[in-house]
Amino acid sequence: MWRLAIAKQRPVTIGVVGAGLAGLRCADVLTRCGFQVTILEARNRLGGRVAQSDQLGHVVDLGPNWIHGADDNPIMELARDTNTYLHAVDNTEAIVGPQGTLLPDEESRKYNELMWSDGVIADAFRLSNEHFSSIDPQKSLYDFFVEKSETMFLNDSAEEANRKRKTFLSLSRIWSTYVGSPITRQSLKFFWLEECIEGENPFVAGSYRKILDAVARTAKEQAKILLETEVKQFRGRRSISGTGDELQGPTLVTVSGDVYSFDEVVVTTPLGWLKDHKKAFQPELPQRLSDAIDHISYGHLDKVYITFPRAFWLGQMPGTGAAPGFVHFLEPAYAESQQWYQSCVDYANMGDYAHPTLLFYIDGPQSKYIASIVRDTTDPQARDKRLLEHFYPFYTRLPHYASSDPACVPRAVLATAWANDKLAGYGSYSNFQVGLEKGDEDIEVMRHGMPERSIWLAGEHTAAFIALGTTTGAYWSGQRVAERIAEAYGLGAATSGPKQTELKTSEAS
Ligand SMILES: Cc1cc2nc3c(=O)[nH]c(=O)nc-3n(C[C@H](O)[C@H](O)[C@H](O)COP(=O)(O)OP(=O)(O)OC[C@H]3O[C@@H](n4cnc5c(N)ncnc54)[C@H](O)[C@@H]3O)c2cc1C
Repeated sequence: MWRLAIAKQRPVTIGVVGAGLAGLRCADVLTRCGFQVTILEARNRLGGRVAQSDQLGHVVDLGPNWIHGADDNPIMELARDTNTYLHAVDNTEAIVGPQGTLLPDEESRKYNELMWSDGVIADAFRLSNEHFSSIDPQKSLYDFFVEKSETMFLNDSAEEANRKRKTFLSLSRIWSTYVGSPITRQSLKFFWLEECIEGENPFVAGSYRKILDAVARTAKEQAKILLETEVKQFRGRRSISGTGDELQGPTLVTVSGDVYSFDEVVVTTPLGWLKDHKKAFQPELPQRLSDAIDHISYGHLDKVYITFPRAFWLGQMPGTGAAPGFVHFLEPAYAESQQWYQSCVDYANMGDYAHPTLLFYIDGPQSKYIASIVRDTTDPQARDKRLLEHFYPFYTRLPHYASSDPACVPRAVLATAWANDKLAGYGSYSNFQVGLEKGDEDIEVMRHGMPERSIWLAGEHTAAFIALGTTTGAYWSGQRVAERIAEAYGLGAATSGPKQTELKTSEAS
């Protein structure tokens, strides 16, 4: 009731902590509803994990590259509205085997079919959706792959079947680059939380820059934005007199000691940040919320772009029908770090935005290793040399590579290091690991936040189940919290698009 009373007397003030897609979308909706919004952002720029670099001579994304599911996806609509160049990455996936040679086209195609199309990944989603309540929390997606592989290649000799199973299981490890943690850690029980919106998954070859600008537009015009303003303490709404008659709105304290008070506060700091800063909240977080923050995991995904004078690998890959969208390097016996498989995307195929660059995706321990090189090697030349040494065994496996050809000598390298970034929570995005028992409830608890203390949470970790960990999820989460606040103050939210509560929860629940 007091919220309705305040709204009748004066403009309602909202502090939004964080200017990623969640915070910007939240501010957008709130300002349209008539709230007075202040965004407090620790970085000196907007966008959070959506960020670009032109260090290579062309703009590339340091965070997201993909739109996960084109159907009824607001990020897809923004891409269209802003004329952002999207590229449908070729489904052809080339596989470089453990000895460093390309598998024959037919064999690669078979493995890819066994994994994708209506293969094991689809089976795992079906199982997780339909039977999640009875799946052992300790069972991993990799365990499921092992079981499935035992039913495959039964017409081959034992030796050949074993070889193929081994290759298939090596290929399954590329799942790790989707979620940012090893497939052996991916919860089978909560695999369904990884399912995305229906439709195509285009690569945002023109970069997320114009999409970000579009999401930020209203906030830039209507909200007050405080950059380089890092919040270190959140004090929830409380009663001053102890009787509940006089209420003090939530208060934020920044690292430079400034204090801000608002009627409501929306916290969009990443899950990794929340894990490390639970003590920033006063009074302390309710136990169930604190547990939820602990239970949901936070992955590591990083990227390494390597640019060459010319895309020497272009042309027909020996043994394959076309230049592939992806190249997977399985358990590289030829590299020093043999356990670190690689996957790379070929930018030279990207239509209008083609450039002679390979984009390597790295995850988990390898991501941390690359981040340690970036952190510890202060001399840029020495750093680039170490980075290129790490990837040398891989790009030299591509067709037409010749050490004597100047086109095969990298011109520049750029590595992201989200694993070093405190404001990104030292990682990339949330994921669901073995041991998780109530993952859906945990998300719902975070999504609910602490409205009674006037502290609300948003961000990819609080998103609709079909969009967790994605840009779309971050966008929707900001929108939904704004709608809830607007409802609480009787100020109708003027948005379109699905509410999180209306989106698919669990088919199994
Ligand atoms: C390498 C990588 C690849 C990805 N790939 C994809 C992809 O292909 N497709 C996709 O859909 N998604 C992808 N994602 C995920 C996507 O980027 C995120 O889900 C989304 O951008 C998160 O938005 P957010 O607003 O929730 O958080 P953020 O963008 O992290 O925003 C939070 C903001 O809070 C600020 N902040 C943190 N602490 C404080 C503080 N104490 N005080 C003030 N401000 C603070 C941060 O600086 C940041 O600006 C990827 C992410 C990464 C890192």
